Amino acid sequence: MASGSTDRVDCARLAEDAAVLERVYALSELPRLQDLLADARGSVRARFAFSKLEAGRAGAMVAVQAAPRLVCQRCLQGFELPVTSDSEIEFAMSEADTSVDSPREIYLMDEGSVSLRDLAEEELLLALPAIASCSTPEACGRAPSSEERQRPFSVLQDLLKKT
Ligand SMILES: [Zn+2]
Repeated sequence: MASGSTDRVDCARLAEDAAVLERVYALSELPRLQDLLADARGSVRARFAFSKLEAGRAGAMVAVQAAPRLVCQRCLQGFELPVTSDSEIEFAMSEADTSVDSPREIYLMDEGSVSLRDLAEEELLLALPAIASCSTPEACGRAPSSEERQRPFSVLQDLLKKT
């Protein structure tokens, strides 16, 4: 779908224009997300509102909305987790170029441009839990019981059967 070249945008120019861009990416297009997904169905909706910051820097408000199917780390079943996230981003040429006291997330540009897809992927990854699990014990296919904690090997066997 979106090729790398057309997805790259010039941050300074968009900030000058106060451009607002909206994109939808299939979750299957986001390489860093794949290990977390139970399956790659679905998409992420992203909104980028560019603005000029102090000292002529380029910034953007990045917002994402998605409902990826993650793998529960308790029951190893797929479950849908609706997430929304937004961050204030400040674009910088290099680590050395960043303003120390910026309240914003620093995002490094590649020769003045960034990939909107990468930016959306980064924001979505920030929104996901470090350890995914079904939101309620009732929904979880197999919450660890006291019995299982005493029998770790049977749990391990179950894990092996699923791979
Ligand atoms: Zn679960």
